[in-house]
Amino acid sequence: MIIGVPKESYPGERRVSLVPLVIPNLVKAGFEVIVEMNAGAEAGYPDALYLEKGAKILPDRTAVFASADIVVQVLSYGSNDVTGEADLSLLRRGQVLVGFLRPLGSIEMLRQIAQTGVTSFSVELVPRTTRAQSMDALSSMGTICGYKAVLLAADTLPRIFPMLTTAAGTITPARVLVIGAGVAGLQAIATARRLGAVVSAYDLRPAAKEQVQSLGGRFVELPIEAKDAQDARGYGTAQDESFYARQRELLGRVVVESDVVIATAVVPGKKAPVLVTAEMVKGMAPGSVIFDLAAERGGNCELTQSGKTVVEHGVTVIGRINIAAEVPYHASQMYARNLAAFLLYLGKEGKLQLNLQDEITRETLLTRDGEVVNQRVREFFKLPAPVSLGT
Ligand code: NAD
Repeated sequence: MIIGVPKESYPGERRVSLVPLVIPNLVKAGFEVIVEMNAGAEAGYPDALYLEKGAKILPDRTAVFASADIVVQVLSYGSNDVTGEADLSLLRRGQVLVGFLRPLGSIEMLRQIAQTGVTSFSVELVPRTTRAQSMDALSSMGTICGYKAVLLAADTLPRIFPMLTTAAGTITPARVLVIGAGVAGLQAIATARRLGAVVSAYDLRPAAKEQVQSLGGRFVELPIEAKDAQDARGYGTAQDESFYARQRELLGRVVVESDVVIATAVVPGKKAPVLVTAEMVKGMAPGSVIFDLAAERGGNCELTQSGKTVVEHGVTVIGRINIAAEVPYHASQMYARNLAAFLLYLGKEGKLQLNLQDEITRETLLTRDGEVVNQRVREFFKLPAPVSLGT
């Protein structure tokens, strides 16, 4: 089977779905790999490296889609809501598509993907289990985002992060608060600690406490307990507005005492909870920075504008989106390893096996034969069970 790597088309997207490093393993497993010319150039992977590792380079996008049995992308239509629609007419029945498809985003978009007839797999749906760890692209991108958000916040802050004792006096360390200690949050804690900041973190999942502490962060204990804080998949759950109101009340003091807030609190498929109010921002010292990694999902800060950086009450509120694209070399490398692990898992002797008894296959399969077939997604959108899943 032929795996096709088109150049990413989302504005500002510099990642590429497969890097040269993973190609020999795919070739060894019986796949052929074709890559659109310059697909990896902006991530630091020139065409020559792909050729060296056994891939073919094709001059145009249409040819890649036309020749490929499996199209692999970073941002596919669904998550690419700017230019992704143009790919729909290039996809064909029976072809396989793997990428970020935003499965809990818009059902209309998912139906459009389904109508092309592609068998699509959404990397967001990879189960967060030990067995699927090597395929977990959400964790890879979360790691990159947490790291980069801290660097960008540090660069914006008019203070330095570490404590310094110098002949010119002692400099106190920056205080960083991380809200939401999932993968991105934990990486933000580790990065801010390495830069010398004093870090505290909060998450509504009690399980996060130990992880925060193991990274040298102080866990902020709030005297409220979330109802069923964690779902069966390990994700934080949505709470009612009265819980969020109480969270805001209790978090307020910690927020105003922080120089930097890195906000990552999200719930799959839901608008992000507002945990940092305009009032809290007003109370922060001038020059403070809020990096809202939840910006794309509505933001954890009331003043966040998705895709923009604004200064309010002297505080810089960063709502930049698609941060992983700003570290394209390693983001692509990690993503490519996740994709290659997934393809090698599904593929035997260069052919994909669709064994729906298998948890990873069943949970990631999004559309097939014109229908959105994924059970979690159908339940989320309150659709009736599909007519037949086949095997
Ligand atoms: P995420 O991006 O969905 O959410 C980020 C964090 O925000 C989560 O920790 C969540 O609890 C938190 N959050 C949500 N609402 C909040 C609120 N109101 N206040 C404070 N915090 C709030 O999370 P993620 O990084 O994708 O991780 C999801 C889960 O999966 C975690 O439990 C993580 O440990 C687990 N995980 C497991 C594996 C594995 O076992 N292989 C791999 C990766 C992640």
